[in-house]
Amino acid sequence: MPFFIFGTEAGSRLRALMIAAPLAGFACLAGVHMNAEADDVLVRRERMVADIAQLVRETAHETGRAVLDERVIAALRKVERQRFVPPELAAQAYDNRPLSIGQGQTISQPFIVALMTDLLGVGPGDRVLEVGTGSGYQAAVLAEIVARVYSIEIVEPLGRMAARPLAQAGYRNVHTRIGDGYAGWPEEAPFDGIIVTAAAPSVPQPLIDQLKNGGRMVIPLGAQGGAQSLFVIAKDANGAISRRKVLDVRFVPLTRRPG
Ligand code: SAH
Repeated sequence: MPFFIFGTEAGSRLRALMIAAPLAGFACLAGVHMNAEADDVLVRRERMVADIAQLVRETAHETGRAVLDERVIAALRKVERQRFVPPELAAQAYDNRPLSIGQGQTISQPFIVALMTDLLGVGPGDRVLEVGTGSGYQAAVLAEIVARVYSIEIVEPLGRMAARPLAQAGYRNVHTRIGDGYAGWPEEAPFDGIIVTAAAPSVPQPLIDQLKNGGRMVIPLGAQGGAQSLFVIAKDANGAISRRKVLDVRFVPLTRRPG
């Protein structure tokens, strides 16, 4: 049961501390309290990774992926999702579900973040564009795997808010910008991978243009309020485009800046 190794370790460390505490007085008790909290976060994060792995197995017939790339799993184990949710929702940070982050927007379900990252097929040295920074969590997961992440958010307060936990957690390889991601980030193009975390009626042409030959884009497509599906768009070595439908999903819409 590899997914529970961490949980067991954390549990036994906690038990040892609890036995030691009565012998050592108040200062030690405060220490126990802090350690217990840290252990609890580790246990909950590890359980989230196990929940994601199970859902990946259950949806393999649709996604074609029964097991996530180990780099994706390592990133999920490392990124502190509680940093990216509003403080009042910290207790739910490791539930495998989307959460409201204000401004009518959501932090995606961890399973979807994991699947989209896996489908992108990127690795060390790669440069990735994200459209829809939202909370910044997806950008942090990518930042654990690739060289540079460029992330665009159209809602200014969200873009500003996301920059803070990304900086506090030390992700110096994430570059954020406020703007309409439909147009991509031409100054930094082309990208090895492009991930769009809001649903568009069709694939924005500027994003296709900014994808490297041999690169992949992961994007939810579908009409607002209607059925949506996650697609993988691949550009081959000659620049030819192909698309594969992966899974039915529900995302907030990709909005356009007027004018
Ligand atoms: N990746 C995010 C998910 C955020 S939800 C996370 O990990 O939390 C999608 C986000 O896309 C929302 O914050 C929304 O404001 C943003 N968005 C919608 N249309 C956009 C556009 N045209 N350009 C950039 N961001 C956009």
